[in-house]
Amino acid sequence: MIILKRQNKDGRTIFDDKVWEQMKEIGHNLERIRYRESKKSPNLFYKNISDNRENGVIFVDIRGTDVIPIWDDPRPITYYRDISFSRYIKELILLKREECKPRLTFYQRSEPDGWAFLLKGIPGGLCKECGKDIINEVDWGVLEGGLYDKNGKDKKINIHKEIFYCIDCKRNHPQLIEELKP
Ligand SMILES: [Zn+2]
Repeated sequence: MIILKRQNKDGRTIFDDKVWEQMKEIGHNLERIRYRESKKSPNLFYKNISDNRENGVIFVDIRGTDVIPIWDDPRPITYYRDISFSRYIKELILLKREECKPRLTFYQRSEPDGWAFLLKGIPGGLCKECGKDIINEVDWGVLEGGLYDKNGKDKKINIHKEIFYCIDCKRNHPQLIEELKP
């Protein structure tokens, strides 16, 4: 059962009906995929992750802050504890698919160094060529250091190729991939 309070984190009331409706919609979508709302902190949702060797928590926060109120942008900020970066990205994709509108930071759209800025958002996890679901196939860890190779000069990874195509399309259509090189 979700509570959701019609207020910003600092207690200021949300007057904008549209923002409040969006928050409720996101709250219901989160509940549907088994997120729970913190009893102590209304508008803060979380899910315990316990799969494979991952044991931690993902937070989906629609509280706003005192600096950036929730009516600035009601899309929830996400963060995580004790799980891998790859697992976090997978969860972001699932949240996106379920219309929970996750974002990584307050400034996702204006962080030129951030991968989400360069990719124009969180990837969908579907192959751009054949549509196959590649959420469990891609090594999302390649996004961890940003979009440009930070793993050493010899180890150039074409990140677009890694995260936007399934194994078969990567193999069968190398020309498609060439066009995407940064
Ligand atoms: Zn494909």
